[in-house]
Amino acid sequence: MRKPFVAGNWKMNTDSSTSVQLAIDVVSCTSALAGDSVDVAVIPPFVYLKSVFDAVNNSSVSLGAQDIYFQEKGAFTGEISVAMLKDVGCTYVLCGHSERRHVIKENDELINKKLNASISGGLLPILCVGELLEERKAEQTTEIVTRQIKAGLEGIDAEKFSAVTIAYEPVWAIGTGLTATPDQAQQVHAMIRELIAGLYDGQIAKQVRILYGGSVKPDNAAELMALEDLDGLLVGGASLKAQDFGSIIAASV
Ligand code: PEP
Repeated sequence: MRKPFVAGNWKMNTDSSTSVQLAIDVVSCTSALAGDSVDVAVIPPFVYLKSVFDAVNNSSVSLGAQDIYFQEKGAFTGEISVAMLKDVGCTYVLCGHSERRHVIKENDELINKKLNASISGGLLPILCVGELLEERKAEQTTEIVTRQIKAGLEGIDAEKFSAVTIAYEPVWAIGTGLTATPDQAQQVHAMIRELIAGLYDGQIAKQVRILYGGSVKPDNAAELMALEDLDGLLVGGASLKAQDFGSIIAASV
């Protein structure tokens, strides 16, 4: 009952011509599947959003942004508002990606403001959560992920929550070639669903899509997608090659 969702986070990669070419190639790789069987989104750098939107417009591939700022407008040099992202065709936005949390040092409170602003402005946020390697080793995964989700969803009622996708991305698996084992991923995904049932209700928990991210590749996508509580994939490195991204999408349906 939960439609698979695969999103490609291009991070700080591509340029004005390769971003458009990648978008065109993603559309052609996914034309047989995207839309009906699986939701697909590409998430390029801010400066290429408009040209990538023009390339995916009239296809079933949606556009997402890697971040937003929560204020509507004004003296916030360097920041990008929800309205600006809507204006250039975005549907989705990442909130709290691990690189924003750990490299840029965003905290839960800021991420919560971004999530709230996204929903209020009509974007669909993807709330990213996940533990560091030392936190996993110290058996703190449940504690960390629970804290990130509760804080991220502070003040978001059930109606607003219907706009939210959650992505579990263990930090130690992002860009490292290490992937959570199916057992590790299923355990955390089930825990997140149970947490959502407690915060909202069982029906809402059944409906929310929980993506996995962390070194997803064409050869591990199917095994991950077979897991009961895993509803899609957030793909970094492998989304920069249209063919690999296409294979991951094909493995997801
Ligand atoms: C990501 O950027 O969210 C990600 C999971 O990256 P990678 O697939 O490269 O690990």
